[in-house]
Amino acid sequence: MPTPMGFELIRQLFHKPATNCFPVKYYPDKTTVTELMKKVQDGEVKINSPVEIPEKFRGKIIYEREKCIGCKLCVRVCPSRAIQFLPEEKKIKIRIDRCIFCSQCNDVCPVNCLHMSENFLLANEDRFDSEMIVE
Ligand code: SF4
Ligand code: SF4
Repeated sequence: MPTPMGFELIRQLFHKPATNCFPVKYYPDKTTVTELMKKVQDGEVKINSPVEIPEKFRGKIIYEREKCIGCKLCVRVCPSRAIQFLPEEKKIKIRIDRCIFCSQCNDVCPVNCLHMSENFLLANEDRFDSEMIVE
């Protein structure tokens, strides 16, 4: 009699993979990311499209600053202390390098000014790069 593990193994045989080789299938030897991007631009390397983003995917946060009422609820619920309150402006600043994409700040915001986007391309060598700060 097949065990639950056996059933799972058989199911996996017919299931589509959840990931793929992104951005390229075969990474050229001794190539930096910048060189790779140049090769893509010159048509020497083809980008392998990412798998379809699932419904309710939790990517980089979008902040609608003008809607924010400065209530600080998001700051209180954030488990990774990624949200900093700016007292003078009564607005917030989010550090993406600290965010664990739990969406608790989105759920608690009384005016719905926080949203999870589909953006997952967040790799960066500088954690304080403007791309890594949402404000
Ligand atoms: S998604 Fe979670 S970890 Fe990221 S800022 Fe919001 S509460 Fe913090
Ligand atoms: S919970 Fe919403 S309204 Fe309150 S400070 Fe955070 S972003 Fe602004």
